Amino acid sequence: MGSEKITKPEKEWKEQLTQEEYQVTRKKGTERAFTGKYHDCKEAGTYHCICCGSPLFSSDTKYDSGTGWPSFWESISPDSVETKSDFSIFFMPRTEVVCSRCDAHLGHVFNDGPAPTGKRYCLNSAALTLVKPEADSE
Ligand code: FE
Repeated sequence: MGSEKITKPEKEWKEQLTQEEYQVTRKKGTERAFTGKYHDCKEAGTYHCICCGSPLFSSDTKYDSGTGWPSFWESISPDSVETKSDFSIFFMPRTEVVCSRCDAHLGHVFNDGPAPTGKRYCLNSAALTLVKPEADSE
């Protein structure tokens, strides 16, 4: 279910996304803290991948981490996202979080999150789009 991989030429992603969305999701960029549209968002709904529309995180697991990026303690299902080792900053190994369907860079996951998982998925607003419950049942 939903496990079919999506791959597209860079050109198509570029056409489909805004410049910031493209930089974050396809070039592993990071939006500046407190600038994204969802870091302070408390609305109910499901956060989907901006690239492929796959559901990734629920507002039920969103919390205020104080970091300036939307933060969650769990993904919507175990196979919605994948993690990869990220050594791009050599003195600070991190774990990258990507959309398991289209490989979009979403952010990083850290082990300083709240109970029950202790995880902090620190994501970029630019990688996400919030689908509210009304729209879900269309
Ligand atoms: Fe995706």
